[in-house]
Amino acid sequence: MEKKRLIAWLSELSKDDVKLVGGKGANLGEMYNSKFPVPPAFCVTTEAYHYFIESTRLREQIDEILRKITDVENTELLTQKASEIRELIINTEMPKDMREEIIEAYDHFNVDLGQIKGAPDALAIMRTAREPIFVAVRSSATAEDLSDASFAGQQDSFINVKGNDEVILNVKKVFASTFTARAIYYRLKKGFEAHVGICAVVQKMISSEKSGVIFSVDPVKTENVLIEAVFGQGEGIVSGRIKPDSYIVSRELELVSEKVSDKKIAIVRDSSGITKTVNLNEEKSKQKVLKTSEVLELADYALKLEKHYGKPQDIEFAIENGEIFIVQTRAITTLEKKKESEELEGKLLTKGLGASPGVASGVVKIIRSMGDLYKIKQGDVLVTQMTNPDMVVSMQKASAIVTDEGGITAHAAIVSREMGIPAVVGTENATSILEDGQEITVDGYNGKVFLGKAQGKKVEVLPVVPTKTKIKVLVDLPEFAERAAKTQAAGVGLVRLEGIIASEAKHPLYYEDNEKIDEYQKIIRTGLEKISYSFIGKEIWVRTSDIRTDEYSNLEGAPKQIERNPMLGFHGIRFSLKHQKIFRAELSAMKDLADKGHKFGIMFPQIITLEEVKAAKQVLEEMQVIGHPNIKWGVMIETPAAAMIIKEICKQGINFISFGTNDLTQYTLAIDRGNEEVQYLYNEMDPAVLKQLSRVIRECKAAKVETSICGQAASRKEMVEFLVGQGIDSLSVNADAALEISQFVKELEEKPKQNQKSLD
Ligand code: PEP
Ligand code: MG
Repeated sequence: MEKKRLIAWLSELSKDDVKLVGGKGANLGEMYNSKFPVPPAFCVTTEAYHYFIESTRLREQIDEILRKITDVENTELLTQKASEIRELIINTEMPKDMREEIIEAYDHFNVDLGQIKGAPDALAIMRTAREPIFVAVRSSATAEDLSDASFAGQQDSFINVKGNDEVILNVKKVFASTFTARAIYYRLKKGFEAHVGICAVVQKMISSEKSGVIFSVDPVKTENVLIEAVFGQGEGIVSGRIKPDSYIVSRELELVSEKVSDKKIAIVRDSSGITKTVNLNEEKSKQKVLKTSEVLELADYALKLEKHYGKPQDIEFAIENGEIFIVQTRAITTLEKKKESEELEGKLLTKGLGASPGVASGVVKIIRSMGDLYKIKQGDVLVTQMTNPDMVVSMQKASAIVTDEGGITAHAAIVSREMGIPAVVGTENATSILEDGQEITVDGYNGKVFLGKAQGKKVEVLPVVPTKTKIKVLVDLPEFAERAAKTQAAGVGLVRLEGIIASEAKHPLYYEDNEKIDEYQKIIRTGLEKISYSFIGKEIWVRTSDIRTDEYSNLEGAPKQIERNPMLGFHGIRFSLKHQKIFRAELSAMKDLADKGHKFGIMFPQIITLEEVKAAKQVLEEMQVIGHPNIKWGVMIETPAAAMIIKEICKQGINFISFGTNDLTQYTLAIDRGNEEVQYLYNEMDPAVLKQLSRVIRECKAAKVETSICGQAASRKEMVEFLVGQGIDSLSVNADAALEISQFVKELEEKPKQNQKSLD
């Protein structure tokens, strides 16, 4: 057999090598040879892939399985055969020479070649003496595959891989990724060759001391280059957890301005590959991240990359031991939006967290107290210190919302997402720098507020793709149920009754105190009925009311006293059990509708003790709700206490649980979810939260109790990946995120199983 080229280093590659190393490998080679500092990498070539499947007779075995797919439209058969093929590839031993070549190449990463001059023995010693390094193993597909965007499953990328066996395993995983059910379907349907060229790029992972992003065209002042930088890894910038330093450089490479921010934290990878958040001390936190020489060097690369690709670039960089690496570059896709800001003469007024996507313009109305709410006319921009969900009626009229305070799980943000109204929260200064009557544009994607008017952009709600893990939607406002139903989601994972209640501007206690509880029951029933008609035949999970005193103090009849710690105060099930008339009115509204054939899941919020579950269950029994053919019951898991006693809770006969990660994170970390000062520490992916999720899912599975999530974290991809890996039954998301999350879940479900372990 003619000698195969199993391995190729970036130095040996150019853009003409797509056939050998796929699109990504060829692009990296091109960048490397154009003198851009990409992290070192080698490619396990498409020839290596073909050698692997031919010399081990894998090709015949794969073909054999493919022949068993007699009907590509039979999804179950297709999925099963696809996973058989992937397992076969992963479990087949690689030819010895190929394995050795890959390990030899990987070994080269383990030494700093620049430091070793001379004796090969020294090299050998260094190789064995040093800890193996972390690499990322990424798939790189050949051009014909890339020509159709629907060719999914090609984007597998495995990070934090370390050690010979792991590298080999992950190369095989990349090879296996060409046999997702969707990819096979596509090829068989189009009559394409079943085996495609796939290459695995093995690239050194950079241990970032500093990192960030560069826009070769500054979104605000388009003639300049904008650099944003933080200590540690760059994901803190993207997620909005860290306020980065920003540097503006002219196209003549002169530093125009720099703004050093108080970064507070850094995200770093520890020696076992786990990503951690560390707190920075006062001095480090306020220290400038980049030296001027680094700023200028980065800007220079950005302009060169723009020239190389002929388009403005959005670039990720990392700095390790003082050395700059370009980790990723892509054309700026959001330039359309940036054009809008150009029309605005580039005047950025303020920045905050993008809490609800979309772009809208309108006239500023500053609301300093509830008494000002009358000022809001259709299409105005509501600007306030912190929106209260009891402003819901006025919020519906607003074209956009801007606040000084708040995080993205604040109820006001939740409501604006549901209404599809762009919102920017946590600007710190909107009410002081914006002026009544001023015309502004709110960019809810990027958390920016501009002076002037621009083209509006609403987020469209589209149907989800089918997935095994059910995708449900969140609906708090009956007026927006129809919008949410456009997702064709499997059901509603959470209705917060507070939406219906606040629309009437009266607190439940008003009805109790004035002996008008029937009126309350009717209001709840009418609201739920409206939602039900948009989701006929589907389950709607409704939470009994959970009203905090700080959020609803303006409703008529609300308690006068605002509690010292409203988050820990008198709300949720503890309130309902003490105000049984209100509680029973809510339950009876659901029962009435269930009698008519609508399907409900009733869930109890803020559970902390078994006694509460038993007491609530007793009420359900008295009202003959338990055993009703159209009603299930369950609890929210949103306190660490509930997570700890989950086994006992399951024994009470619940049908389901739903994670309220907004609160579970707040109560686990002791971080106020509504206080933007501490948002940088609010992280649903904290291991302390994940451990509870993992444990609860495991216990629920054992007890045959359905599991779901209705906290905001269900729209975060890393959380979705974690929960799907743990085997959660469904995810509830905002209507406008439903399609994207469903596509992501589908990709995850088609990936070879990663043997996700329970965390606890
Ligand atoms: C939660 O806590 O995650 C939740 C869904 O409830 P809320 O946001 O209403 O507190
Ligand atoms: Mg909650």
